Amino acid sequence: MTTDNEINLVVGAGFSGATIANLIAEELGEKVLVIDKKDHIAGNCYDYRDKNGIMIHKYGSHIFHTNLENVWKYLKKFTDFNTYMHKVVGYLDGIETHIPFNFNTLYDVFPQSLAKRLEEKLLDVFEINTKVPILEFQKQDDDDLKFLANYVYEKIFLHYTTKQWGVSPQDVDGAVTARVPVYLSKDNRYFQDKYQGIPLEGYTKVVEKMLNHKNITLKLNTEYKELKGKYFKRVFFTGPIDEFYDYKFGQLPYRSVNFKFETYDKEYYQSNACVNYPCNYDFTRIHEYKYYLDDKSDKTVIAKEYSEFFELGKNERYYPIPKDENKALYEKYLEESKKDTNVYFLGRLGDYKYYDMDKAIARALDLFEEIKNNG
Ligand code: UDP
Repeated sequence: MTTDNEINLVVGAGFSGATIANLIAEELGEKVLVIDKKDHIAGNCYDYRDKNGIMIHKYGSHIFHTNLENVWKYLKKFTDFNTYMHKVVGYLDGIETHIPFNFNTLYDVFPQSLAKRLEEKLLDVFEINTKVPILEFQKQDDDDLKFLANYVYEKIFLHYTTKQWGVSPQDVDGAVTARVPVYLSKDNRYFQDKYQGIPLEGYTKVVEKMLNHKNITLKLNTEYKELKGKYFKRVFFTGPIDEFYDYKFGQLPYRSVNFKFETYDKEYYQSNACVNYPCNYDFTRIHEYKYYLDDKSDKTVIAKEYSEFFELGKNERYYPIPKDENKALYEKYLEESKKDTNVYFLGRLGDYKYYDMDKAIARALDLFEEIKNNG
């Protein structure tokens, strides 16, 4: 018989929680109780096939991409991936073209002669195939390149970032806009990582397989506070660190997203899985899900993505807001957490970091190594 103090508790059944639970169960042979307050596993990576047979990403498009060999190798134990390479298009002045802005975008939006001149000037200043964050790209001396930088800033970043974050690109941490750089290349892909794709049976299935272990018990619809007072060997908390401490220093702010789903009686709605609207409308982008696994149906499902502030009890947390004052608040919680020596925080909400899926998994893999080595 196992008593609670031999059991590990994992709060949250997203990728971070599932990874640490799986490793503790499999490699240490210890018991793990995984709880999630939602009625499903996989956190915001949750996907499901709808009645048309289309795999829907309930919380927005998730495209797996990584250069981390250990993460790829680990995930391959649970799934194969299709060879999908994500490309994003967007409307600039009514022209559907490539995002990130690259040489193909240049030739799509400007007359040939101007595009050629700009290309030559760009290659005098930057190495081919380099990625330049927009806030860097704006630091140009040449008038033509200044004009180009202003164009890219205004048409791709200004309105999209204002919609997405509620503030202009200068007031968002540079790392956020640097995720979508200006790319001195003709490569139209959104990511250049060595490994990319969508799990063939979806993300939920991957997490299901990670949690399907004789040492793991899963309880959905269960809040951490229902178990407070019980003692566990270790607690892995992937929920919001500020919630764990009852918001004693104040709330960590997040952006949330609202998806408006629509079904159409036609094969395809748009040319691409993800179409950005940096200049028009109140939504930031439209996702069309059947592209990800090449699902066949005479119907199609899209979601329009609207960004909004996170409000407790009203919507979900999606994006930590990388900003000095928020980081300082997070640091206070981090400091507090050092007193709880058997509690480990991880994941986007636990670490208050804008992790991609691979980075969240890498963090859990690293944490496991630490625990394995230090007991
Ligand atoms: N961004 C933008 N215009 C675009 C795409 C992205 O201004 O057409 C900026 C925006 O600030 C966004 C950030 O780049 O929040 C990162 O975009 P990414 O697509 O990586 O965001 P995610 O898919 O994580 O929401």
